[in-house]
Parts: sequence; C-alpha cells; structure tokens
Amino acid sequence: MKKNCLEIVRQKCENCMGCALGATRNNIVFSDGDAATAKIVLIGEAPGETEDETGRPFVGRAGQLLTEFLTEAGISRYRDVYIINTVKCRPPENRVPTDDEKAACRKFLEAQIDIIKPDAIILCGATALKSFVQLDKKQTISKVRGQWMTITVDGVEYKAMTIFHPSYLLRNHSMEEGSPRRLMQEDLRNIKETILPDRDFSDVVSASELTFGTLVNI
Ligand code: SF4
Repeated sequence: MKKNCLEIVRQKCENCMGCALGATRNNIVFSDGDAATAKIVLIGEAPGETEDETGRPFVGRAGQLLTEFLTEAGISRYRDVYIINTVKCRPPENRVPTDDEKAACRKFLEAQIDIIKPDAIILCGATALKSFVQLDKKQTISKVRGQWMTITVDGVEYKAMTIFHPSYLLRNHSMEEGSPRRLMQEDLRNIKETILPDRDFSDVVSASELTFGTLVNI
C-alpha cells in the first residue's frame, strides 16, 4: 500500500518542472530504502553528481560513509531507513538549494513522510535541519546535533534528531573522543537504541551485504 502511494508521488515528481532545477537534472532522486519496513526517514540536502546520474540518494563517497556508520550502529540502510532529500533534483555545481527551490519541492517531501509515517526523522546536515527548525544565532548544528526534539510536518508531530552530514565527516577523519566522527557514531547508536531497540546486529550486516569495519578508511 505504501509503495503504491509512493509510486504515484514519484511519477508526479518525475514530470515536475516546479523550479529551475528541473531543467538541468538528468534524473530525479526520489528515495532509497524499503518503504514497507523503514521506521526512520533520513533527510539529506540535495542530489550530487553521482546521485543525479544514478537516480539514488547518498551513493557517492559520502553515501558510502553514511551506510557504514548506520551499519556500525546496528541500523540497516536498506531495511530500517527511507532516505530522501530536501529537493529531488541536483542544484548546479552542487550548491545548496535555495529557499524557493526547497519550498517548491516541499510537497513531495511532505507526501513521502506522510505515507511512511516514521517513528523518527533524522535531519542529516544543516540544510535539512534548517528546513524544519528555526535556529537562533547561537544555535549551530554542532550544538543541536544529538538531541531529540519534536518537529512538525504538515501538521503532524515527529520525533527527530539532527546528525552531521557525511560530507563533513569526509573532511574530518579522526575517531578521537569528541571528534565529529565519534559524535556521529554516538548519535546513531542513540537512534538505534531508541527507535530500534530489538533489532539484531548480525541481522543488519547480512541485510546490507557490507564489509563492516571500514569506517576509518573512507
Ligand atoms: S527540485 Fe523538486 S520542485 Fe524543483 S523541479 Fe525538481 S522535483 Fe520539481
């Protein structure tokens, strides 16, 4: 049922020229993950070059790193998480999507969340965070990440947490205590324990078909 509803939304998205990004895309990047089993919706920023070529979100190096972090925490990217972006088409030169572009694409984002009805939403990076939370000047992603909060999407409240974007972690390799990578690890373990407390770790590894343990090598 969820998959049928999402397919209808996807077809509308495929024909969308609701903002200027539609004119330069090769593919819309609608989602990744199993809508029938996902308890978490993860929202990233926007498609990059590899995503635009393949039509799938988080498939470049940053996506590989995200998958590794999820797996390390005991979360299956393919079963537990439904991944989307704030906009479905790639901004030229990988720039940050504008407020107008995000507003034009918001209907697809809200429809996806409404159909999935996740137990939690992960806001991955500052662009996703700012799409749902009004920050004051003292608030930065470093200060709000890792905290459970409530966000409202189309009138419905959801439990949510902000995490670092994996692109940021590609520039910060340290796994020392307090480092961005260590904080990412702690945040995802927190999400796993809170939202998926009974999920078996070995189950995740077999589901993802990943070679575990390469976190520090990406
Ligand atoms: S980014 Fe969203 S609103 Fe803009 S053309 Fe693509 S699908 Fe339509």
